[in-house]
Amino acid sequence: MKRRDFFKTGLVGFSLPSLTKAKSDVKRNKKKPVIITTHNFPKANAAAVKVLNKYGASMDAAEAACMAVEADEKNSNAGIGSLPDEDGRVTLDSCVMDSNGNCGSVAFLQNIVHPVSVARKIMDDTKHVMLVGKGAKKFAVSKGFRHTNLLTKDSRNAWMKWQKNRVEMTPHDTHDTCATLIQDHNGNISGACTTGGWAYKMHGRVGDSPLIGSGLFIDNNVGGAAATGLGEEVIKSSGSFLVVELMRQGYDPVSACNEALNRIISSYNGNPDFQICYIAISKDGEVGAACLKWAFPHLITKSGITKLKSVKGLLS
Ligand code: ASP
Repeated sequence: MKRRDFFKTGLVGFSLPSLTKAKSDVKRNKKKPVIITTHNFPKANAAAVKVLNKYGASMDAAEAACMAVEADEKNSNAGIGSLPDEDGRVTLDSCVMDSNGNCGSVAFLQNIVHPVSVARKIMDDTKHVMLVGKGAKKFAVSKGFRHTNLLTKDSRNAWMKWQKNRVEMTPHDTHDTCATLIQDHNGNISGACTTGGWAYKMHGRVGDSPLIGSGLFIDNNVGGAAATGLGEEVIKSSGSFLVVELMRQGYDPVSACNEALNRIISSYNGNPDFQICYIAISKDGEVGAACLKWAFPHLITKSGITKLKSVKGLLS
């Protein structure tokens, strides 16, 4: 079902996704919803739970999760308050994919608080999958999204401080992408991903997060996967697609994430010097996560209860 309407909450540029639940679906619900989200974004899972509690669809819940993170000015990872690129401009990447294989994506978007909702609009209202830069902004404005200054006092100060030495950061040093995978009461899986990308990146750089198959991939018959970490390396290995394909071959979510990471480890002769993390969910609602190095916190919600989990890196 297409989503056509927003209703305003009064916050600038902020609107909640409308629920695409059909009444008959409520009777058919058999599954207990499951959510897995990268890193520690409790607002994301809380927003998704609100949607799922009303028997909302997984796509609505995933969009709401990312919106909650994008709207949080104190969060420097996505939406308003994101750390800018080397020129001091905030450029945002996001994508969504639903249980029917529909997807929408936006990259290098400026001055819009909710790229995830722009990605959703691209999916719902256009024949395209991806819009970038000025074209994406023009589309967003035509759909009622407001031009907003995304560089907050904190993110500007951080950038000014960085300018003094311009030390190259990695995504692991400064950044956490919000990606979420959700199975709803009907057993349908959708996902969404939103990020400000690599802090102080080259102007124009786009990472894995808006790329279907890299930052996010869903196949409702198999499961879903999403990535965070060094986007360039996720792109090179079509990371999220690979994790889902491994699940199709019979791997459980954790083993699929591990195997996708093992391939990267082998291609760097056992010693990659960057971080990549995956989350995955299978059709039967099993979830898992894995990372290359250090540790990877992530949030899992089952039966409405959210727990912060952490996995140790395969190389730690
Ligand atoms: N994957 C993101 C990017 O490369 C960064 C991150 O997840 O922290 O843009």
